[in-house]
Amino acid sequence: MGSAARTAIIGGGMAGCAAARELVRSGREVTIFETGEGLGGRARSWHRPEIEPTVGINLMYVSFYPLMTRLVEEYGLKDQLVRISSDVYISDGGNAVPLSSDSPLNILKYPLASLRDRLGFAFAGLQQVRRRDRLDLFDPLKAAPFDDGSSIADFAHRYMSPRGFDFLLRPQVEGFWNFRCEDVSSVHGRALLAWLGGSTFQVFRDGMQVLAERLTEGAEHRLGHEVTDLQLTGEGVRVIARTPSGDPVGTVVDDVVVATPAPIAAKLTATLPGDVVGGETRTFLETQEYEPAISFAYLVEPGGLPAGAHIVAGGSADPPIRNMITYPRKVRDGDGRLTDRLLVFAYPGRALTRRLLGAAPQEQFAAVTPLLKTLWRDFPADCEPFHVVERPFGFPIPAPGRYRSSARVTRGLRPPVVFAGDYFNSPTTEAALLSGVRAANALLTA
Ligand SMILES: Cc1cc2nc3c(=O)[nH]c(=O)nc-3n(C[C@H](O)[C@H](O)[C@H](O)COP(=O)(O)OP(=O)(O)OC[C@H]3O[C@@H](n4cnc5c(N)ncnc54)[C@H](O)[C@@H]3O)c2cc1C
Repeated sequence: MGSAARTAIIGGGMAGCAAARELVRSGREVTIFETGEGLGGRARSWHRPEIEPTVGINLMYVSFYPLMTRLVEEYGLKDQLVRISSDVYISDGGNAVPLSSDSPLNILKYPLASLRDRLGFAFAGLQQVRRRDRLDLFDPLKAAPFDDGSSIADFAHRYMSPRGFDFLLRPQVEGFWNFRCEDVSSVHGRALLAWLGGSTFQVFRDGMQVLAERLTEGAEHRLGHEVTDLQLTGEGVRVIARTPSGDPVGTVVDDVVVATPAPIAAKLTATLPGDVVGGETRTFLETQEYEPAISFAYLVEPGGLPAGAHIVAGGSADPPIRNMITYPRKVRDGDGRLTDRLLVFAYPGRALTRRLLGAAPQEQFAAVTPLLKTLWRDFPADCEPFHVVERPFGFPIPAPGRYRSSARVTRGLRPPVVFAGDYFNSPTTEAALLSGVRAANALLTA
C-alpha cells in the first residue's frame, strides 16, 4: 500500500484551516506552517487576564454565514457563541444617531438623510433581497455574473443623492471594512443589502481561534514557522521555512495550499514556472490591494457611551476615526475586585492608519486618543489606552471586475500549488473558509 499523499498548508488563518479539515478527512498527511504563535490569522483574538472575558478583538460571526453555521453545529461550539447587539450609530461630525438593520422601521426615524433618500435606500435594499439566492456575499462564482465593472458608489447613485449615499450606505460598508466605496465592486454592496436586514451577530467567547483549532485536528502544526520559499523538485514541492530559532528547514510534499494574504502568496511562488502558476493567477495575486487596519482598544467607564454599539462615521471624507465598537467587560483592579468597564475598539480612517503603521504604540495612542471625540462627541477624556494590534494586510479590496477574475482563477486551481484566502471574495471569515474548501477540493479532485 502506498503512503498517504502529503500536503503543506502555508498560513493557519481561517482559509488554511478550512483546507486542512477537508484534506485530513480525505486521508492526506497535512502539515500547517504558520508564522504566528497560534492559529486563526486575522481572526485570532488577543487575551489579557485583567479583563473578563479575557478576549480582545473578537470577530463577528453573522447569522447568514452558512459554512460557519454548519461547522459550529458539527463541533458542538454553540455554547461558545455570545450574541452581541447590532446597534449601529452613524456619526455626523461627532453627533451620532441610531440606524440599526434589525428593523426596516428604523430607517423612517433616521434624521441624517432626506425622506426621498431613505425611500431610495429601502427600495435598493428590497431589490437586492429579491435576488438573495444568487447575490452571494462569500462566493466569487456566484458574485461574478453580477460584477459589471461598476462600484458601490455607481450603484448607490442610481437610488439616492450623494448626501443620502454618504449617510446611508457608505457608512455601513466603510464602517465595517474601511475601504472606499468608489474602489469596490457594486456586488459587495448589493450582497450586503440583500443579506444584512434582520441578521444577528455573535462572537466566540474564547475567540474565533477555537474554530480554527478544531478545523485542524489531525494535521501537524508547525507554529512560529515562516515559509520563505517554494521550489519545484523531482519529487514534489520543497517548502523552505524559518523555524522559531531562525534556522532554515526544508520539507518536500506532494502539493501545497498557499493560504497567506495575496502579496505574500505572490512572493512565495514568484519563481515557480508558468505551468504551475499561470499568468492570470499571477496577475490576480500581484494586483490585489489591501487597506491596512490598526485596532486601538481603550477601557472607559460605562455610561458615557452605548454598550454593544457599532459607531461609524458618515460623510464622504476619509475621517480621522472611521468606527468604534463597544463591548461590556469586567476589569480587575489592584485588589482583584471586578468592576464594570467598556472595552472600546477604535479604528482610524485610511490616511491616519497608513501614517501610524509601524509606529511605537505610545505614539499611535497619542495621535488617536484626542481624535476620538470626532466620532462620538462626549467620548470620555479619562479613557485608558489598553491594547493595540496592527494588520498590515487588513482588508483585501474587491475592486470592480475582481469577482470575475477571481471566478476564473478559482476554476483554474490545480495541483501541485493552489491558493486560498479571503481575497478570493471579500474580507469575511466565511469567504476565507469557503476559499479553503475550494482549494482543498481542487487538490482532491484533480
Ligand atoms: C480589523 C478587522 C476586523 C474584522 N472583523 C471581521 C468580523 O467581525 N467578521 C468577519 O467575518 N471577518 C472580519 N474580518 C475579516 C477576517 O479577519 C478575514 O477575512 C479572515 O480572517 C481572513 O482569513 P485568511 O485565512 O484569508 O487570511 P489570514 O487570517 O490573514 O491568514 C493568513 C495566515 O498566513 C500566515 N502567514 C503569512 N505569511 C506566512 C508565511 N510566509 N509563512 C507561514 N505563514 C504565513 C499569517 O500569519 C496568517 O495566520 C476582519 C478583519 C480585520 C482586519
